[in-house]
Amino acid sequence: MSETYDNDRSYVLHSWSVQGKLSPKVITKGEGVFFWDENGKRYYDMGAQLVNLNIGHQHPKVVQAIKDQADKLAYVAPQFAEEMRGKLAKRIIGLLPEEFGKCFFTLAGADANENALKIARAYTGKSKIVARYRSYHGATYGAIALTGDPRRPPVEPAMPGVVRAFDPYCYRCTFGQKQESCNMECAEHIREIIQFENPDTVAAVFMESITGSNGIFPPPKGYMERVREICDEFNVLLICDEVMTGFGRTGKWFGFQNFDIVPDIITMAKGVNSGYVPLGVVAVNEKIAKFFDDTMLYCGLTYSGHPVSCAAALACIDAYEEEGHIDNAAALAAPFAAKLDALKEKYELVGDVRSIGLFGVVEMVKDRETREPLTPWNGAPGPMAEISKRFDEKGISAFVRWNYIFLTPPVIISEAELNEAMAIIDDCIGGAQKAILG
Ligand code: PLP
Repeated sequence: MSETYDNDRSYVLHSWSVQGKLSPKVITKGEGVFFWDENGKRYYDMGAQLVNLNIGHQHPKVVQAIKDQADKLAYVAPQFAEEMRGKLAKRIIGLLPEEFGKCFFTLAGADANENALKIARAYTGKSKIVARYRSYHGATYGAIALTGDPRRPPVEPAMPGVVRAFDPYCYRCTFGQKQESCNMECAEHIREIIQFENPDTVAAVFMESITGSNGIFPPPKGYMERVREICDEFNVLLICDEVMTGFGRTGKWFGFQNFDIVPDIITMAKGVNSGYVPLGVVAVNEKIAKFFDDTMLYCGLTYSGHPVSCAAALACIDAYEEEGHIDNAAALAAPFAAKLDALKEKYELVGDVRSIGLFGVVEMVKDRETREPLTPWNGAPGPMAEISKRFDEKGISAFVRWNYIFLTPPVIISEAELNEAMAIIDDCIGGAQKAILG
């Protein structure tokens, strides 16, 4: 074993893991949609790392921008004006609807959500937040309190004031509806929740514009529009977490742009600079921005608007625009969806497939009729390990969680690469099904 591996096992605590069970791969190289381990084995990065490396590995423009900024001015504190910080805020506001005014910079997604929360509470003078069960908003204390997935209970009691709503999960509708009979109770019950909680106490509805790591649920037509109406009716802010869905993931700059809505606050991270250096953003509308003209903004981080992170983001946004990567994700949406549909046609253990842009999931079941998940929600991997094992052998890196296989490649992927990777994935699922069914 290499020194890197030994150092890791001796000294590094890894996220979300029982440490003694880990045997991490040592990664030494990345390029485009591929990365390599220390033995020279190549992997298709079908997860874009943590759904953040939208621009792919080692994009020369982004790497160069980091070097140039480090040479010029590596750091200056947030109280000063700095070229990259100002340019990036202007650029992001330029990508958003005209209602948007200013940006507060953070280091990642969780602290973008923390600060969005503080801003919403300060602006409205109200404290409760409606957030969904099947959601992930980050691992810090406020963000994990917003989060509904099972990574939250171990840190309870979390921040108070979060009221939970059910999800637009059409394949397993909480309200027992089928597509034909859908009357969007998933949106209507948010109205009821706000009424019962007392609208004068509810600051915001906080949601991923399209749920990510809890299963990728493109909502039913009209859902987000109805949620927006409900928020307006009760003078409640709509905050969209675009940490995973931003910067081309869904074939648009932002996930909310798939709907006819304008949120009041948008949080971003990940794809903003594809994770080359840490960065998060809270973008607020003009009204909220103006409120802080005469009111203290009680938010602060030593690295808010770090010049190197901002320079990387500007280069990354340049690359998305100049090289047409957002259009690429939009163009590949249909071929990608067709490949996912083909998996469903072919394999009886595939219960459902869902995608929007290059944001896709394969949901595995024991039985298509009963829809019983192949492995229980929040349970041990069980038979899903057959899939992970084959992915690993065949050089596919993708996030497998519960009975879901998430497929979220870098948005720079070519159609030929996508076809090749999907053929390997098809083969792996086929092999796994054979092994599972015997
Ligand atoms: N929000 C969403 C929707 C996410 O998917 C994530 C991370 O996966 C976060 C927030 C947290 O971001 P970070 O890990 O950068 O703190």
